[in-house]
Amino acid sequence: MTGEITFRELDGIDVGRLKGVGERKRSALSSFGIESVLDLVTTYPRRWVDRTSEARIADLEIDRDALVLVTVRSVQKRTTRNRRTMVTAQVGDGSGRMEVVFFNQPWREKQLRQGLQVALYGKASAYRGGLQMANPVVDLIGDRTGRIVPIYPQSEKVQLATWELAAFVEEALRRCAERGIADPVPVAVLRRLGLVERAAALRSIHLPETMHDKESARRRLAFDELLRVQLLLVLRKRVLERDARGVSHVLDGEFVRRFHESLSFPLTGAQRRAVAEIEADLAAPHPMHRLLQGDVGSGKTVVAVSTLLVAVQGGHQGALMAPTEVLAEQHATGVRQLLDGLMVPDPDNLFGDRPLRVELLTNRVSGADRRDVLAGMADGTVDIVIGTHALIQEGVAFRSLGAVVVDEQHRFGVEQRAALRDKSSGAVPDLLVMTATPIPRTAAMTVYGDLDVSVLDELPPGRTPIVTRAAVGVAGEAEVWDDVRAEVADGRQAYVVCPLIDESEKLEVASAEETFTRLAEGELAGLRLGLLHGRLGPAEKQLTMDLFRAGGLDVLVATTVIEVGVDVPNATIMVILDADRFGIAQLHQLRGRVGRGAHASRCWLVTRPQSEVLEVDSSGQNPRVAALVASTDGFELAEVDLDLRGEGTLMSSSQKGRSDLKLASLRRDRELVKLARDAAFEIVDADPELSDHPTLRDELDLLFTDRDESFLTKS
Ligand code: ADP
Ligand code: MG
Repeated sequence: MTGEITFRELDGIDVGRLKGVGERKRSALSSFGIESVLDLVTTYPRRWVDRTSEARIADLEIDRDALVLVTVRSVQKRTTRNRRTMVTAQVGDGSGRMEVVFFNQPWREKQLRQGLQVALYGKASAYRGGLQMANPVVDLIGDRTGRIVPIYPQSEKVQLATWELAAFVEEALRRCAERGIADPVPVAVLRRLGLVERAAALRSIHLPETMHDKESARRRLAFDELLRVQLLLVLRKRVLERDARGVSHVLDGEFVRRFHESLSFPLTGAQRRAVAEIEADLAAPHPMHRLLQGDVGSGKTVVAVSTLLVAVQGGHQGALMAPTEVLAEQHATGVRQLLDGLMVPDPDNLFGDRPLRVELLTNRVSGADRRDVLAGMADGTVDIVIGTHALIQEGVAFRSLGAVVVDEQHRFGVEQRAALRDKSSGAVPDLLVMTATPIPRTAAMTVYGDLDVSVLDELPPGRTPIVTRAAVGVAGEAEVWDDVRAEVADGRQAYVVCPLIDESEKLEVASAEETFTRLAEGELAGLRLGLLHGRLGPAEKQLTMDLFRAGGLDVLVATTVIEVGVDVPNATIMVILDADRFGIAQLHQLRGRVGRGAHASRCWLVTRPQSEVLEVDSSGQNPRVAALVASTDGFELAEVDLDLRGEGTLMSSSQKGRSDLKLASLRRDRELVKLARDAAFEIVDADPELSDHPTLRDELDLLFTDRDESFLTKS
């Protein structure tokens, strides 16, 4: 082979061919998932230590986790009085000395030979006038000389030390240097983004001269990981678009503008931006597939209605789908209000227009009404229909369905999209999926794969933010119930959300009933209480909700059934019991049930006393509860959530494969995700089959399995 060496070729070279890798090391590497030279050079250090400026004994602080690079001076083993083994090592660097002790790790005596260089990670404590570190994590770094020491993941079990990995990698890179390593990313992209070449990056990630070099290398290699994922998604998106004939909507009518003018408020900047993004998609010949993210109350309905009206304006129909009948009914009421009095252009009509026709279709619409709605959908006299998934079932026909908005469903699957196509005589209607669960934008770009994303990141003006407070234990709760009583005395209403019990709906219902009884007989005695949970029949639920909405109940004790879409403006206080059992997104969603009217609203997050719960941060609070108290911004909370949940990797752990992110993190590399996505569009749009980029194409085939691919694009 000649020319620069590709990942495909590196993948074909067994690590056993490297100098120093004998049968035993080969099987050790293999148990690490390293079979080929490609696996080896893409096994990156997990940290880098600059021995000239960090990791010195003199800088250690008592009781703080820290890393030091030291030389072993002497090692001793003995047995303690309670028959445990204890290995003690004296270690030092140019700045000081320290004692290290290991309990019950007799093999350390053999591991830590005099003169050996090791990296120790642990907490130092003061001991007999000196410093001591007990049971630190030990990395053997051998006799490496460079200023920066890479520390690899290593395994004591298989006897593979970080210095050995470093030596193998160095050998591999030295051998590659003869031919050079191919760089599949277009030079123009690298230049524009200021990215270093791949060969240099691979060298600097493993053997950096400076920390700055290491950072540039990391950025480049992380970019490659993200670019591959985005290329896969963008390629697939473009294929879907090419293969599907959509409706090219006309935008030049008056109709949508008239709707915006009829509103009693100006659109927010975010709404205007979303509407413009959607209209650009609607005008294009391929079907739109867009996600609209917006916090509770950000005004998604107006954007949804605008979308549907663009379809109506061009003589098509629009459909709005909600996840439940109750929500469909709420939407129907809301949308009718918004569209009240709006006339549709109609050349066949004597006056040139006619009233817009909005209908509701759920399983509760029956008999003659149902036949009437179905007939109107089929002959085109129904302009907008609102309902549940029943809308796309067999036997429901549209004359010309132009746009569909799906509320609160993140993953509108392939089958549903196919069903939509069937509804519309060949042309695929444009699709807008709405969600109130904010996902950090960059995560959305990846998680939602081939969807485009619009974000409503601005609330309409004049909202009084919901004040959130934490209450702990019985004493804290007393204040909460006083607050509820005071609010009710002012004519307001309250929600009490009962503890979440994951394992069983039955237990959850029991706990809700218990809470109801406890409050009705105790803390909230004398108030009018209602109970709502998942085991009640639909009629019973409806009755309770209607009563609460009409003001016939002061307090609604409920399970999370109220999470989505319940809208009672007079309800101004929410109490969430055992709040630490909920996730950030869910707490935020629940909290959004208040603060919907003109009155100031409050949310109480009740947790048990600290002594009974494990999960607290340094200030003694549950970190999720603390986040909710600190912020009402759903996007900010989503970022916190991503941070709290740890690394922003792509696939679930069972899914982890070669294609997963090793260096890149959806959490830390938000900017890079965006750049990679833009670059992927640029590359694919200029070269849809990647025929001018064979190495890049080949890398995708090499690194992604079919399973990865279907995981990434299952939205
Ligand atoms: P979402 O569905 O995103 O939770 P809605 O669409 O139900 O939010 O809107 C919440 C409330 O805000 C509604 O009463 C709506 O009329 C109002 N609203 C929407 N857009 C604006 C705006 N630009 N200015 C003022 N109020 C608005
Ligand atoms: Mg809504």
